[in-house]
Amino acid sequence: MAPTEQPQIRFCAECGRPTLPDELASFNGHMVCPDCKNTYVQKLREGVAPGARAFRFGGFWIRFVASLLDGIILAVVAGIFSAFLFPAFMSRGLVRNSNPTPEEALAMIAPMLGIMGVIVLLNMIVGCSYETFFIARLGATPGKMALGLKVVRPDGGPITAGRAAGRYFAKMISSMILMIGYIIAGFDSQKRALHDMICDTRVIKRQD
Ligand SMILES: [Zn+2]
Repeated sequence: MAPTEQPQIRFCAECGRPTLPDELASFNGHMVCPDCKNTYVQKLREGVAPGARAFRFGGFWIRFVASLLDGIILAVVAGIFSAFLFPAFMSRGLVRNSNPTPEEALAMIAPMLGIMGVIVLLNMIVGCSYETFFIARLGATPGKMALGLKVVRPDGGPITAGRAAGRYFAKMISSMILMIGYIIAGFDSQKRALHDMICDTRVIKRQD
């Protein structure tokens, strides 16, 4: 007598226990039962998971090219901002004066510095919104998308808006001291940059 087939039963990739599909957690196709999930996530964090083939981490150079693409997009946006802001400043009575007194010189420079501060601040707001929106919504900025990269949690899960915004500011730390925070990604087993370590994120190659 043939046993009743239960086609929907799947097997945990870790312990082999038969489990209903909706109880299994999928880590890029690596199906894990509830009992094994926490241990498996821990293994993923440590980069020793047997299913770690599930993640192909994005290395330094591919990420570098992705940031160049994002940089170009943001530079165009910054250029548009500046194109509007600078003429607005210039038309506000910058009188050509070949021999200004110190007071006059300061009066000429101060608005210039102010406008530069505004541009820096605007760039920061635009950059942070750009990263937050694209990473939280789509898992990747346009530059990363173009190169098939994705930002995920160690278990492959999505990045919340708060974490994406935090990661933007953590990147500033990475860019200090000759970009060392970025360069270390080339030496980490999971290709983590400093901001990935701070925010507990990973950059992986999309697999679809
Ligand atoms: Zn299991």
